Amino acid sequence: MALLGTLRAGGIVLLVSPLLIVGCVELNAYRPDAEVTESRYATIVNYSTTPIDPDRVDDLFIEVADILGTQLDPAVPLPRIVVTTPDRIASLYEPKGRRLPWDLQARALYFPDAGIVMIPYFDRSLLGHELAHYLTEHYATAPRSEWERIADGVEWKLAFGTRKATVRAPVLTPARRQQLLRPPRLTPPR
Ligand SMILES: [Zn+2]
Repeated sequence: MALLGTLRAGGIVLLVSPLLIVGCVELNAYRPDAEVTESRYATIVNYSTTPIDPDRVDDLFIEVADILGTQLDPAVPLPRIVVTTPDRIASLYEPKGRRLPWDLQARALYFPDAGIVMIPYFDRSLLGHELAHYLTEHYATAPRSEWERIADGVEWKLAFGTRKATVRAPVLTPARRQQLLRPPRLTPPR
């Protein structure tokens, strides 16, 4: 997948690409009510009619954590992954007067503090990039100015592979897991 670049502004970290690329994903269909799935490492709120395999999400989560050398901590709140329309993702960025230059459009977002990822469909590169932001926010001390470089590096390693599979996953009971989930600060889009 060709990605033109990344931009960050106003507290929202996003991944951008040419409109032409966004156009190619509009074959995906979406529905008004989401299917909510609790995977081991995330809550998946899926407005797409294409099912999201929670095991693939968890596998990717572990892979990204491994690339970043993260030792996962059950006490850290888990991310909420919202799968919604490309237009919705773009509109969440644009109304605040942050129109992107040239023909760029936000393809995926990460909302720091809320731990919310927004993607238009499951894609290892897109989701891996945003999960890298989540893990960097919660486990690393890197300044925000470094977040894009780190996430771009994760994308590269996901594509070309260097993982060592050394991350030990914590054991989470359903009850403990619910404790870790903090209420979202963003109303899921419809
Ligand atoms: Zn990013």
